[in-house]
Amino acid sequence: MAFGRSTTTHGTTLLANTILTLDMKRRQFITAMGLGALALATPFSLSSAERLTDKWLSQPSSGKMRLSFTPYELQLRHAFNLAKSSRTTTPDVLVRIEYEGFTGYGEASMPPYLGESIDSVCRFLSKVDLSQFSDPFRLEDILAYIDSIDKDNRAAKASIDIALHDLLGKIMGQPWYKIWGLNPERTPLTSFTIGIDTEEVVRQKVEEAHPYKVLKVKMGLDNDRATIETIRSMTDRPICVDVNQGWDSKEHALEMIHWLKEHGCLFVEQPMPKEMIDETAWLRERSPLPIIADEAFQRLPDITRFKGVYDGINIKLMKSTGMHEAYKMITLARALDMKVMIGCMTETSCAVTAAAQLSPLVDWADLDGNLLISNDCFDGLKIVEGKVTLPDAPGIGVTPL
Ligand code: MG
Repeated sequence: MAFGRSTTTHGTTLLANTILTLDMKRRQFITAMGLGALALATPFSLSSAERLTDKWLSQPSSGKMRLSFTPYELQLRHAFNLAKSSRTTTPDVLVRIEYEGFTGYGEASMPPYLGESIDSVCRFLSKVDLSQFSDPFRLEDILAYIDSIDKDNRAAKASIDIALHDLLGKIMGQPWYKIWGLNPERTPLTSFTIGIDTEEVVRQKVEEAHPYKVLKVKMGLDNDRATIETIRSMTDRPICVDVNQGWDSKEHALEMIHWLKEHGCLFVEQPMPKEMIDETAWLRERSPLPIIADEAFQRLPDITRFKGVYDGINIKLMKSTGMHEAYKMITLARALDMKVMIGCMTETSCAVTAAAQLSPLVDWADLDGNLLISNDCFDGLKIVEGKVTLPDAPGIGVTPL
């Protein structure tokens, strides 16, 4: 299988660093696999299917499930500019679990602000020992074990969770939305992200976004109103706004939200810093638009303190440790009468399609992470007339390219 068509010197360095910093046990394993010398002595290139396939690092396992993984650097189509950061690549690790002729795929995507890296994910995965489990259907047991290996490491945990779901769905011959009993007609529209940028680039992105019925606009800098006015000069499609914690004043935030409501905005995501809980609750009480939490939470227990602070949550598999906990988060949020959005990081179609399996349960989707990269290495969900359209393939529904 071909994973992407190019890599960079940066990618080479990342892999070399990853290999160099592995612990001794891991070095012995790599040496045993004959991969260490190869990785250290030759530039790492993703230029052909055969060479990438050679780079999968397999866990030595006496069990039936065999885990392997490989670093992969996602190339962004445009620089990703947020209120507090900017970048052109995202580090990623692709994972697969093989069992009795079936292969499940997963992925860890690591936007730097979440604190994980290719190095930390490879370290985590090198500790995983699936040989103690003979039955991959023991999902609760296996994921509890994965969670117990180390704290945090949410993206690394998600990569195993996604690969296991893919594997189990393939063994059962059904996609997960069917296993969960969901109606694929109920998938929501997905938004397309317009980052913070110059007026010219904003115009270009709005042009690119023409198949989408909802635009997600990144805000939180001085030119917020100008960005919306540029978009409104081109289209009257509904927008949602993601401030990424960019507004420090609750009064300014409230004024902006009233202004945004007049400009066709549906909701506002993470308007204020996550630590400003009382201010966010103040804002929510007065806001004419729903306030959605993103950076303010990661996992299931975090949601219990959101009642009265946020109207809804933006779940992402790289925060929730995967599909299993994300499903539980949706259930809990509904019990708390909260709105639910499912989002993603910049990811390949692997993790985005896995998240899409849950999308019939949510109010809004922001599943465009695969469209923001130029080296997607999976085929999966499709966006048809702006709506998430689930593939009928078993598991998470992806095919390696
Ligand atoms: Mg967000």
